[in-house]
Amino acid sequence: MNLSQDHLAIRPISPVGTVRTTCAYCGVGCGVSATPQADGTVAIAGDKLHPANLGRLCVKGSALGETVSLDGRLLYPQVREADGLRRVSWDAALDQMAAKWRAVIDEHGPDAVALYVSGQLLTEDYYVANKLMKGYVGSANIDTNSRLCMSSAVAGYKRAFGEDLVPLCYDDLELADMVVLVGSNTAWCHPILFQRILKAKEARPDMKLVVIDPRRTATCELADLHLPIKSGTDVWLFNGLLSYLSRIGAVAPDFVLEHTNGFDAALAAANIDCADPAAVAKVCRIDPALLLEFYEAFAATAKTITAYSMGVNQSSAGTDKVNAIINCHLIGGRIGQPGMGPFSITGQPNAMGGREVGGLANMLAAHMDLERADHRDVVQTFWDSPAMADKGGLKAVDLFQAIEDGKVKAVWVMATNPIVSLPDADQARRALAKCELVVASDIMQNTDTNAYAHVLLPALGWGEKDGTVTNSERRISRQRAFLPAPGEALGDWKIISLFAQRMGYAGFDFPDAAAVFDEHARLSGFRNHAEDIPRAFDMSGLAGLSGDAYQELEPVQWPARRDAAGVIQSEARLFADRRFAHGDGKARFIATATRAPANAVCEDYPLTLNTGRVRDQWHTMTRTGKSHTLADHISESFVDIHPQDALLHGVREGELARISSAWGAMVARVQHGGGIARGSVFIPIHWNGQTSSDARVGALVNPVVDPVSGEPEFKHTPVRIDQFRVNWHSFILSRTEVNLDSVAHWTRIQGKAFARYELAGRNNIGDFGAWARALLGVADLDADWLEYEDKTAGVYRAVHVVDDRIEQCIFLSPRQDMPSRAWLASLFAKDQLSEIDRVGLLVGMPVEKGADTGPTVCSCFGVGRNTICNAIVEQNLETVAQVTACLKAGGNCGSCVPEIKKILTEVQYEGRELNTSS
Ligand code: SF4
Repeated sequence: MNLSQDHLAIRPISPVGTVRTTCAYCGVGCGVSATPQADGTVAIAGDKLHPANLGRLCVKGSALGETVSLDGRLLYPQVREADGLRRVSWDAALDQMAAKWRAVIDEHGPDAVALYVSGQLLTEDYYVANKLMKGYVGSANIDTNSRLCMSSAVAGYKRAFGEDLVPLCYDDLELADMVVLVGSNTAWCHPILFQRILKAKEARPDMKLVVIDPRRTATCELADLHLPIKSGTDVWLFNGLLSYLSRIGAVAPDFVLEHTNGFDAALAAANIDCADPAAVAKVCRIDPALLLEFYEAFAATAKTITAYSMGVNQSSAGTDKVNAIINCHLIGGRIGQPGMGPFSITGQPNAMGGREVGGLANMLAAHMDLERADHRDVVQTFWDSPAMADKGGLKAVDLFQAIEDGKVKAVWVMATNPIVSLPDADQARRALAKCELVVASDIMQNTDTNAYAHVLLPALGWGEKDGTVTNSERRISRQRAFLPAPGEALGDWKIISLFAQRMGYAGFDFPDAAAVFDEHARLSGFRNHAEDIPRAFDMSGLAGLSGDAYQELEPVQWPARRDAAGVIQSEARLFADRRFAHGDGKARFIATATRAPANAVCEDYPLTLNTGRVRDQWHTMTRTGKSHTLADHISESFVDIHPQDALLHGVREGELARISSAWGAMVARVQHGGGIARGSVFIPIHWNGQTSSDARVGALVNPVVDPVSGEPEFKHTPVRIDQFRVNWHSFILSRTEVNLDSVAHWTRIQGKAFARYELAGRNNIGDFGAWARALLGVADLDADWLEYEDKTAGVYRAVHVVDDRIEQCIFLSPRQDMPSRAWLASLFAKDQLSEIDRVGLLVGMPVEKGADTGPTVCSCFGVGRNTICNAIVEQNLETVAQVTACLKAGGNCGSCVPEIKKILTEVQYEGRELNTSS
């Protein structure tokens, strides 16, 4: 049975009017207005009332409507049998799971089972999963993919403040006089926050933007200062800053004395090898003058925010990097006041919600500690649960090792794709292949991970599920359902509750998501007062909401308590009273000794791999990969390398290369983005086994982790790069699926009403026409089949037309230099080809001037590079604002503004020569 074709792509929708909900992607947590349409589509707009975005959305948020079709959805429970997956009832699936879990726990103990969950879950889902494992199974073997992106930030905050507390809010980014972005390509990864910073900078041009990043990213295009730090040397840079601030007297002595501990030890550690800025500059490979400029600006600017993201967290020294940054704020007392402080920007939509409920293996619910008996007592008493985990569980990397070692015998993976996203991802594959019971709850039928599941459970997706998420500024927002549940899919909290009941556990009879939220809110306030176990995390003011009040809950930041009059009081920023969450009320400086990344480059692996996101994709593309709008900006995985390194290693821009490490290998297209230093390469994290034959960068990443947080070192793996030799290159645009079995390397890209395939092969093709027809599945020799062949040059082109409409086209060449895909793709939107279209078909170029818009730059308005270049030249445009006024490009989410700026510079530099190369 082909399960993915067992249902309609478009679901019937009863229009419910506009529903206010929250974006499914990054930690900015933008409000979204979703309006289901009678034709099955959903109109998306920014929610003007949501404080995070005030009506703006980036291109990913704007394209959410393109991801809600039922194409490829997992709709029914299934179990794997000898001949493949078989649809079963919920009862049968849950009974099978519960029987196995019970048998494993009875024979091997509670630590032989595990949950691996996700920052994509809603807080209600997360809460129930954590309660099940820690309070009923009695094991802390529940970890989350948030381990991979922000656990170092959690550990850093806990060490410094005594609790996982983000001190400030988004408004502070607009109030700051200097924003320092460390390891964060904010323009691409948190676009709406970046737009807020830029708007503030426009209004106050003296406001300074500093970017500390090994790459010259899009974010740097608009920065006042870019420090291209050597990967992994952030602790040197911030220890050097601490030492410098101390030396010049930029210290708040009263604050340090009365409200902190550990200053002397931290300063002594910093002074060991970072007292001399010239020495720091040398280690960090930064121009000493630029480093000093930054140090001086930091010292002179009280209202400074240091915002950091994966470039800081994803390191074997991630927690120390976080604390080295926090130390530099504590020394000047720059915390707890408007416009200042250390700000961790989370990557996932609900990484913060997971932190509240203790979704990490080393945390307990409601910000309490697993290691403390009094904390465990609070939670167990509240839950009235039969068991309580009393030690930390296995963190993500260790968990998958324990699965491979046979210590964990049953794992339940929820809303995540570890075979793509974990470091040493081939190890994760080996682990799941050996595991006695793999259960996967997902919204998609076919993922790399689901291929190893014995039981598949259909979960509700964005637009169908109901609950809350918490964004990077501690703001809780509702995600509301506006689409009917498809097939037999259920909310994750419901699936976990049904399973828990099968296991015989009381305490899981929640009637709805509101009841889960209520319990979570009540636990946050339980015994939470000065005489018992005080915690800053307190959202007890949101307990006891009626069903309607939960439905209508407006975005609110925690802490959220009720005052004597019963009015909810929430706090935008913490520590205004200079009281921290350690027992003595003081913050802690942490001594951060410098240390290099765990694995150094060597003769075999001479380059450093850095990984990260691209502008228009999300995680492993299971959702964004469905959107044609998001596919255009960057269509294939790439390896960004400095031109001189490319020359040295024998690879050429535009060609394919094999990148390998001691852990695995992959194939990607070589590019010179212009922003990478010698000795490094950058590869995006998104491509997977469903979208490309061999482009999982996780397979290369070293599985070393930070000793405190357990976060893997995604930003520093020694690799080598070699030519990936092929005999031919090809691309196909097709309305029907293509058989790729015999192709050496392929990438599938979603188009509007078609799919695009980029192919490369090693075989010698004898009969081009027969090869093309077999690939495209065109058996009919009388089909309307236009073709061009140059046997000697190895060039072949064919177009298949049905009823005057383009059905498929294929272009083959021994070289990369084939026509731009943009114009051919535009023909798939036409019901009928014109005569003039047909003239250009086999050339792959339009006869009309300007019809080839070129690669997409602005995804919001579908504006291509060629269109922008033409407008700049023909209309003498000189600024981004003029380009926006002329073409709209850059006028919505603004994520493409840095690229437009770059194009303007290039065209101006080239003497306003037209540059329409793709
Ligand atoms: S910035 Fe974009 S991806 Fe992030 S929450 Fe907002 S709309 Fe979604």
